[in-house]
Amino acid sequence: MRTLVVEDERRLCNIIKRGLIEEGYAVDAAYNGEDGGYLTESTPYDFIILDIMLPKKDGIEVCQELRGKKVNIPILMLTARDTVEDRIKGLDAEADDYLVKPFAFNELLARIRALLRREGRLKTPRLQVGDLSMDTLTREVWYGERNIELTSSEISKYI
Ligand code: CA
Repeated sequence: MRTLVVEDERRLCNIIKRGLIEEGYAVDAAYNGEDGGYLTESTPYDFIILDIMLPKKDGIEVCQELRGKKVNIPILMLTARDTVEDRIKGLDAEADDYLVKPFAFNELLARIRALLRREGRLKTPRLQVGDLSMDTLTREVWYGERNIELTSSEISKYI
């Protein structure tokens, strides 16, 4: 799973990036809307985390441009402003979900999983090779009936 985080607050961007890497995602980061839009042209991301208030090009514009180009990657928008107008703008721009800052990192992860499930990007959550199986959502690994403990960096080598 490869994702792009577009967020100009570098501290927050790095926290999200580090957290997602720990969860086994491959993560690219952009600090403005222009760079974010540019990266989506060259890389097939599985989902995008897109801040609304961004320099050069805001998240609404980036989202509208992607949808205009028929790019249907799941987009989770972030914003510091929690107004009804902003929510409507984000949804009108065809973002898939909307998270208001500050948020708990676990909620971000849960929303991402929900988005991926909804988009059918996790059609085969269970990988199976012989007696070895893995649930790619919970990241539990089983050998037959036995649960095997793996660190997230060990797991991210394989999926
Ligand atoms: Ca921002």
